[in-house]
Amino acid sequence: MTQNVDDLHERGGARDIIHMHGSLTMALCAACGHRWPCRTELTVASQCPACQSVGSPRPDIVWFGEMPYHIARIEAELARADLFVSVGTSGAVYPAAGFVQMARQAGIRTLELNLEPSLGSHWFHETRNGPAGTIVPDWAEETLAALASVDHLP
Ligand SMILES: [Zn+2]
Repeated sequence: MTQNVDDLHERGGARDIIHMHGSLTMALCAACGHRWPCRTELTVASQCPACQSVGSPRPDIVWFGEMPYHIARIEAELARADLFVSVGTSGAVYPAAGFVQMARQAGIRTLELNLEPSLGSHWFHETRNGPAGTIVPDWAEETLAALASVDHLP
């Protein structure tokens, strides 16, 4: 799951990303709720392809004060996870800031990878600080090596 509204995860090859704050590659009609892929600029003259309303299309992202998307699915994913890893967040914006507590309550191991300790660092079993470009690949290599050694046990 991501709070990012860009498509960098998808461009990096990730699949099945949950965009809890929506996506800049989608448009939403404020009049009828229709959503559609949109990579063009939206203006007051933009028209909804479903209801033909003019001026109602907007980026399909969650503004401040609006409810994030997919919360039920995120809670379900957290309940069945083996590991919760938080990468690059301040830990200041709820509900995402509360996911680590939900994971802990579900008995899931938690890891924070962040430039500096977040506001919620104390909730994590383990915290590693540094640039994501360094600590994420290091952690991934370490994890893959540990998994490979488990695979080779007699
Ligand atoms: Zn519409």
